[in-house]
Formats: sequence, structure tokens, C-alpha cells
Amino acid sequence: MAGGGDTGGGYAYNFCAGPATLPRSVMRRVREEFAAHADDGASIVEISHKSPRFTALLESAVTRFRELCGVPDGHHVLFVHGGARMQCSAVPLNLVSRSPSRTSGYVETGFFARQARAEGARYGTAAVVASSADTGFDRIPAVYPDDCPPDAAYVHLTSNNTVYGTRWHSFPHGLPAPLVADATSDVLSRRLDFSRFGVVYAGFQKNLGPSSLALVVVRDDLLGHALPGTPLLLDYAVYAESRSLHNTPNTFALFVLSLVLDWVGEQGGLDAVERADRDKADVLYRELDRSAFYRPTAHPAHRSVTNITFRLPDARATADFLRRADAEGLRGLAGHRSVGGVRASVYNGMPPAGVRALAGFLREYERTRG
Ligand SMILES: *Cc1c(COP(=O)(O)O)cnc(C)c1O
Repeated sequence: MAGGGDTGGGYAYNFCAGPATLPRSVMRRVREEFAAHADDGASIVEISHKSPRFTALLESAVTRFRELCGVPDGHHVLFVHGGARMQCSAVPLNLVSRSPSRTSGYVETGFFARQARAEGARYGTAAVVASSADTGFDRIPAVYPDDCPPDAAYVHLTSNNTVYGTRWHSFPHGLPAPLVADATSDVLSRRLDFSRFGVVYAGFQKNLGPSSLALVVVRDDLLGHALPGTPLLLDYAVYAESRSLHNTPNTFALFVLSLVLDWVGEQGGLDAVERADRDKADVLYRELDRSAFYRPTAHPAHRSVTNITFRLPDARATADFLRRADAEGLRGLAGHRSVGGVRASVYNGMPPAGVRALAGFLREYERTRG
């Protein structure tokens, strides 16, 4: 019995890295929307994206995101098709022409960071500015301005590394090019100083809503430099001019985003959500650090608050742990297929009770393991 409430089959908590748990009250409002319009065919996903009802929802979501996150006036907030990985292509397509030699810089901190660089390399020279590959991506490497190509169009980093459980606690200063961040797994879970970034992008399915769109915050002066041949719907300027309505966006994802933003407001805003996320992570790290049985994988100074990764002594113990956790209603705890081990993804939507249930299970498993 892991959870508090009960729905007959027991109460489960989903620690999947993404698509991930959304706040329960948000999912309740989603159900209400479709129940209310079951018979009149006019739910939010059955009306024009150009209708006043939908455009008001979209405008309000942009305004509230800007307010909650402190996006400065000189940046646009866009909703771009194709999730986070599409932005790995969109970033070089939109930015790399600003470097005469088509050079960019990438900080290599793990799985998604490497994929971003591989995509950047299709459009020019994608230099590795710093890497933590030699320590198994257990930390964030130091970044020295001298290691950055002086003519780079941008320097790309991954603000939270979903697979390795590390995150940047502060960002590099003094680089010769604008910073670009993939913030898919920590957007809306902490304050970011957007004025320090040329582009921040985030796939929806960790903290924002259902998958398939990306939120893109881009500095105005970086618009309008797309490489010749850039597909129209990957050109950020097209999204800025059309207020993300050049063609039909995923209206359901934007509807859920608007509910998620309401929810963040109801929690007391971004700082309150950031504190709650920090508290949830502390509960788990405290439990892991107390034990010699569990081995957290990230360097303590670089730990993620949203993806908590650890190992058990061997693969057999890991499989047994995951099986028993699942039977207790603690789901989605397997580490990424490329690294194995265990990963608890604790985004905004994970209630504190889920984290307490997992902490209790960690203790119980260590005590009773065979
Ligand atoms: C989940 C994730 C992605 C992949 O997102 P898609 O929307 O599937 O492309 C990319 N980067 C990071 C940091 C992620 O956590």
C-alpha cells in the first residue's frame, strides 16, 4: 500500500520521465471540459484555432507564461511544432547563419545534449565547448570562454539532463555568443533569467502538457536570420508574425498548458512551485544519502531537482526493486534505456505524497530485500 487515497485498485504514482504526471486538478479540469461538451460538439478541440474562444486562450497562456516566468519584453514566446527534438534542428536553421563560418558551440552533458549537437553538425561546424563525457556525465563541466569558437553563432546547453540527473545551477558568463538552452525537463520548475539567453526551448511533455509542441522563448534580434531553404514552419519569424497560428497548432496541448499555468498561479507562482520541487527532491536525496545500499549517480553539487537517478548494487537487484515498486503502485522508475539503474522523475505534477510513498518504499526495500 504505497499511496494515501484509494480508487479500488490502489493509488498509483507515475514517476515516468515523460510524457509525465500532470497535476491531478489539471486532469480533472480536462475531464470536465469534455464532459460538459460531450453533446454539443464544441469542446476546445472541436472549434477553429482562429475562433475568439481559442485565440483568447492562446493569448492568455502567452501572457501568463510571461508573467509567471518573468520573460522580458525583448523576447517572443512561441509554440512550435515537433517537440524538443525538432528544436535541435530549428535552432541551427534559425541562428547559424549569423556566423560567417556557420560555427556553433555545444556543451556535452548527456544524451539529449549529444543529439542536439549531432543535429547542429548537419548545418555547419558544431564544436564541443565543454564535456563531462569522461566522468560518465555525472556533472556539469566548467565552461571557459576561451574554449568557445570566437565566431560561434550560439552556444547550446541542456539546463537539466533528464537521463543523467544533473542540472546547471548557474549558467556560464562571458561567452562570445548567445546562450541557447534546452529546458525541456526543468521549464516552469525554476526561475530562469531569460535575458541571459538567446533561445530557451522546451518540449511540452515534462512540465507543460501533452507532447508534440515546444515552447520557444527567443530574443527578438535573433528572428529573421533563417538559412535559405528552412522549412516555413521551422522559421521562428513565421511563428512570431502569426502569433504561433500560421497553421493549426495542437489545440489540445495548448488547452492543457493553459490549465497548467492556472495551476502554477494557484500554487502561489513560480517561486512557490520551485520551493515545492526542491522540497520533494530533498526528501528523496536525504533517503538515498542515508543509505549505503543506494548510490545516487550525479555529483552532489550538480544534482537535478526533477530527475533523481541512482543505482542498486547490480542488475538483478535493480530488476527486483523495479518489480516490487511497480506492485506497490510506484510506476515508471526504470532508468533511461541507455544507462539503466533507477530514475524518479519528480516534475511539478508529482504530489508530495508520491514522493513520501517512494521514500518509504526505499527504506522498506532496503530492510526487506532478499
Ligand atoms: C524529453 C527531452 C527531450 C525530447 O523531447 P521530444 O519532445 O520527444 O523531442 C529533449 N530534451 C530534453 C532535455 C528532454 O528531457
